[in-house]
Amino acid sequence: MLPSATNATILNERDELLEILSSMGVKLPASTRLHVDALQEHLTKALDRSQRHAELFQHRRPNVGSFEPWIMGSGKTVKEAMISYNLQEIAGGGDIGSFNELRIMLSESIGMAYELGMASIFVSEDSERDRLIKLKVTGLYKMDDDTPLIAVEYKLGNAKDDDEEGNLMLNSPGGHTVFRKLLEINATHSSEDRSRSSITGMTPSYLLPLHPLNHRDIGSLCKDVGCIICGSPSAAHCSRCRSIPYCGAACQRSDWQRHKTSCLALDTGIWIRTKYSTTNLQGMLNRTSQAVENIPQENEPAGYGDNSFIVKLQLSPVDGNSMLVYDRKRSFVGQILRSNDHENFERLQRVVSTGHLGLKIYLWSKYVGDHTLVSKEKKKPNIYTDHLTQPDNEIA
Ligand SMILES: [Zn+2]
Ligand SMILES: [Zn+2]
Repeated sequence: MLPSATNATILNERDELLEILSSMGVKLPASTRLHVDALQEHLTKALDRSQRHAELFQHRRPNVGSFEPWIMGSGKTVKEAMISYNLQEIAGGGDIGSFNELRIMLSESIGMAYELGMASIFVSEDSERDRLIKLKVTGLYKMDDDTPLIAVEYKLGNAKDDDEEGNLMLNSPGGHTVFRKLLEINATHSSEDRSRSSITGMTPSYLLPLHPLNHRDIGSLCKDVGCIICGSPSAAHCSRCRSIPYCGAACQRSDWQRHKTSCLALDTGIWIRTKYSTTNLQGMLNRTSQAVENIPQENEPAGYGDNSFIVKLQLSPVDGNSMLVYDRKRSFVGQILRSNDHENFERLQRVVSTGHLGLKIYLWSKYVGDHTLVSKEKKKPNIYTDHLTQPDNEIA
């Protein structure tokens, strides 16, 4: 488990990047060994997508001088436009995470401050680490009716000057870090002339509304989790189960003793294809008195890419005509109904009957889209594993 963003613990850089990515929905598996550089690259992609960079700039460098000014009083206010979230999405109490903290700050502090005509320097303070970001708003431009671009200059430092004021309401070190990264990333995109910055000591950059990542973006960012042994980028997977990423044969070989059990479990047994339903879920949950509190809105397994993951199947003890299906991190919850596909329901029911109390079982599954899962009939055929000491499967 990662420490929460509001926790006073000072995280190391790698943990902090993982926490920020996770707060954006990019929940890399705990086993990932991706290096700081690769995580940094993940974050750059994630922030670009969150800002809808490709759509707004068609892969060109944004040239701040060429944009139309954002006219006050026509349509949305900057605060409204920057608030690209609805409160329900973030409400619910508890830790909102670094990313949502930054999104709220951009709207509440910067969007509003500009409208009030406060052009002074604002400071985001990470008091635990004596780090400051000094920020000055230099202009407000219109990308489209819903999208303002706030041109800024920023400087990193560790002490406030007398004329600097304002607190940008970022409470957590993670929130402060993702803000700094956002400014740095946008500064490298910007085509603004840097010669000016050498005089003022401030670097030109910009801010755009941050949107939550959609499932396609999350899926593609979760795809490369790096070689499970050394963390190098890995384009290859174990060819037998297609589930474990490796950089090459050496790492695969060194992992075989550990991996072979789950690999062979995945390689044997038949895939059972089932479509789950997401309607009337609450009724089902009440009947089985399940503690699944928040039914996710999108209701698709998130963050696995093409990889297999474990789902839990639980037969309804009431009538035996439906079963609940969800993954460990509850990125989706569905129910499989006998009436939808009698034959596959029976096959799954036979598998579930071998599990805990004859009612529950964990199975390796893959998501193939359209609320459809394929699940492996067998989980752990222990009998196969001992005579194989080397993988006979190439990586692919
Ligand atoms: Zn490796
Ligand atoms: Zn394998």
